[in-house]
Amino acid sequence: MIDRLPIQENVSLAPLTTLEVGGPARFFILAQSEEQIADAFSLAKRKGLEIFILGGGSNVLVSDKGFDGLVIKIALRGILHNNDVVSAAAGEDWDSFVAYCVTENLAGLECLSGIPGTVGGTPVQNVGAYGQEVSETIDSVRCYDRETGEITDLSTEECGFKYRVSIFNSTAIGRYVVLSVSYRFAKNGPPKIAYKDLADYFQSREPSLAETREAVLSVRRSKSMVIDMADPNHRSAGSFFKNPIVGLEKFESIAADYSDQKVPHFPAETGSVKIPAAWLIENAGFHKGYQLGAAGVSTNHTLAIVNRGGASATEIIGLKNSIQAAVYSKFGISLLPEPVFVGDF
Ligand code: NAP
Repeated sequence: MIDRLPIQENVSLAPLTTLEVGGPARFFILAQSEEQIADAFSLAKRKGLEIFILGGGSNVLVSDKGFDGLVIKIALRGILHNNDVVSAAAGEDWDSFVAYCVTENLAGLECLSGIPGTVGGTPVQNVGAYGQEVSETIDSVRCYDRETGEITDLSTEECGFKYRVSIFNSTAIGRYVVLSVSYRFAKNGPPKIAYKDLADYFQSREPSLAETREAVLSVRRSKSMVIDMADPNHRSAGSFFKNPIVGLEKFESIAADYSDQKVPHFPAETGSVKIPAAWLIENAGFHKGYQLGAAGVSTNHTLAIVNRGGASATEIIGLKNSIQAAVYSKFGISLLPEPVFVGDF
């Protein structure tokens, strides 16, 4: 069985990522069944190979040297719709899945329209946008457990969802491979209009799910946050940094230094506030369209680092480091990158 795995060698990873940067995978498998995933793990164990699981490649930066192990690209497909519960395989395109749910009048994911990547990547960082998070709709996550070699269904409680956090990216990193995700929807429910931007868009009118999806897509498009090959900013990993949550004291000292303008901020956990990383980056001297070699800041969104064409991972890292150093020196805040780094840097 294992010998029949479709293993390829020296496969270029750059075209499989939205940043289009980085070197090859020493070994590569396009996994189209759960059995192939389990077999790939057995093979890697036998040969002593490191594994990297690749989904839609929308949140990864691959090293110029590539990855000296086995990359498993999750290509599981299929959507099962049973009343209010819909299960989607991990390799399904996320935005096509959201579009399907909106068309079926299933409320719960409409604000998550236009996010690049696959279904399997979304529970990992509990993807959220415009006040809605996938964890609000997820019913269970079917996973391959690398520790036991078994397939298991994790409930939402077991997934440990918090703001941009789950067990998959915190306490159990590397243990589970997401195979499919089941969602429980409110059939014909109202859209979630939590953010002012969306509320302003519709004023006092309650929009349909489809109108909400269109509004989110339009806001995201204006910031080059929907992948469009005609957009010169399209080679990116979306937001490159997490929005930092800082103590009230830190915020107040920044607000005092910028008393001539209103420093944007939003309440976070008790005694802390969230400051948009884009504001910090702008005020540390990196404007939209800033260039450093073939790497740059998107002309439409300060939070996105883009490959302007032919950039190396080293150039992307160079720009990331300059931004982090400038923000730290100006505000004393360490920005944390959002993409996963693959290979040696
Ligand atoms: P944005 O809308 O300009 O917001 C920047 C920051 O301000 C975010 O931290 C956002 O919080 C916060 N914010 C804005 N309006 C808010 C409000 N009315 N109430 C509370 N907090 C508010 O961000 P963007 O970069 O253009 O991204 C658009 C949306 O996609 C945001 O919701 C962003 O968080 C989300 N996004 C999520 C991921 C991810 O899940 N990994 C990656 C990229 C972008 P929130 O972060 O809580 O929304």
